[in-house]
Amino acid sequence: MFEIALCYPYGINELENFLKDTNNYWKKDVIGVSQEEREIIRLSNFYNEPTKKGIYLIARQHSGETPGSWVLDGFLRCLAEINYKDLVVWVVPLSNIDGIENGFYGKDNFPYDLNRAWGNPPMRHETLVIQRDIMRWKDRCKPFLAIDFHAPGACERDGTYFYIISIEKNKRMHEVEKNMVEKIVRQIGEKYISKNYVKSINYKSRWETPHFADFIRDNLKIPSFSIETPYSLCRELLMKKDDYRKIGEKIAMGIIDILKFKK
Ligand SMILES: [Zn+2]
Repeated sequence: MFEIALCYPYGINELENFLKDTNNYWKKDVIGVSQEEREIIRLSNFYNEPTKKGIYLIARQHSGETPGSWVLDGFLRCLAEINYKDLVVWVVPLSNIDGIENGFYGKDNFPYDLNRAWGNPPMRHETLVIQRDIMRWKDRCKPFLAIDFHAPGACERDGTYFYIISIEKNKRMHEVEKNMVEKIVRQIGEKYISKNYVKSINYKSRWETPHFADFIRDNLKIPSFSIETPYSLCRELLMKKDDYRKIGEKIAMGIIDILKFKK
């Protein structure tokens, strides 16, 4: 038997390499342990800057979705490179660490999909740990946005797209999130972007309980969306690590644009 990777792996080793490359811009802390007692790591650039805007990021709730990690890697490298100081960034890069270490795909993971476990009470131990960290973060900055990084179904190859709240659920928030996405999309450019780049979840889930963005919107009253970047192909383009990183860098530039506009 032999195994072939559909995508570029991203785990603890890649995260350690990333930390070495970014010259102490990112601090690494353990915020709790997983169901199987692995460390849940959170990176941050500032611990406590109550006057600055803040953003909370998460990746790998579905542990197989490594394109999300490479996009996040590019995003975080970009902020370190320009030594950006106007935003408090906290990020859980390997949230479903057990799934990552065990090599699970991670969507609908036993005993409960991590990204449907965000209700009260939370249905996964990891979610409880990260919810508490989010509550810590919200008192250390001015919460402004939260993003969840994913990859779509393996057959999807139309380019990167975003899930925002539906117009039926909350029209005002829908408009706010859509405007933000438009600014980010302008930065990313046509090469990597799906023609249908704004979507709202309309598929049936195994569990209809809250996901990360629901938790953020309900508890913090700030916008939150997820980003889906395909495995292997954006239409004709074969995606390499640097393509994913480029998308992440452009997302960071888009967010810096939004912050400038807000001032
Ligand atoms: Zn996913």
